[in-house]
Amino acid sequence: MRQLIAGNWKMNGLSAGAGALTGAIAAGAGEVSCDLLVCPPFTQVARVVEALRGSVVAVGGQDCHASASGAHTGDISPEMLADLGCSAVILGHSERRQNHHESDAAVHAKVLGAMRAGLMPIVCVGETEAERDAGKHVAVVGGQVAASLPDGFAGVIAYEPIWAIGTGRTPTEGDVEAMHRHIRSALVARLGAAGGGLRILYGGSVKPDNAAGLLAVPEVGGALVGGASLDAGQFLAIAAAVTV
Ligand code: PEP
Repeated sequence: MRQLIAGNWKMNGLSAGAGALTGAIAAGAGEVSCDLLVCPPFTQVARVVEALRGSVVAVGGQDCHASASGAHTGDISPEMLADLGCSAVILGHSERRQNHHESDAAVHAKVLGAMRAGLMPIVCVGETEAERDAGKHVAVVGGQVAASLPDGFAGVIAYEPIWAIGTGRTPTEGDVEAMHRHIRSALVARLGAAGGGLRILYGGSVKPDNAAGLLAVPEVGGALVGGASLDAGQFLAIAAAVTV
């Protein structure tokens, strides 16, 4: 299966900067041998979709509500993202789980909403540094996978150790492999044979200089990239590191 390199722009990007970033990514996107996705803030989604029309780069949201519509001030529904031209949505990012107290149950409901709207959910899981130090990371991540995914889940998992996000620190390639193999087992236990074919991304301080090593780890199906996705050269260099 082709690897996926997904960029999470987080709360970054006014019109001029988002336009320039999108243009630079589109200009280099033809050269890579992986799938590409960018996830701008809601305010830039329409602009980015328009700028990428006809390119190979897909567009996704960074979050959505579980419902299709209703009295949810400030929220965006999966149907609204699909209507704008998104094909994917990041769900359960650790910044949402921490800053907005999103539980596995809330993520589970959002995943159902995303699938209802025809979006590819990218479900983030990952342990804190304290949980890893206490040797609980395997149980924590396994629990998140089991509780966040509905029956019939069709999407992508992103393993993002919280202590590696935006810190410049990464797990060893051996630790990434061990966790991705664990997630694969959890997916198969939860979903049966279908769980064997889903992509598992690694996320957390992926940069051009460590991408080749991380992307070559068995069971790594691509990367979810935060900071480096705000620089077209770095984002494309990460994508160019895909060799499988
Ligand atoms: C993220 O927040 O999803 C992420 C992976 O960020 P960074 O690449 O900046 O660590």
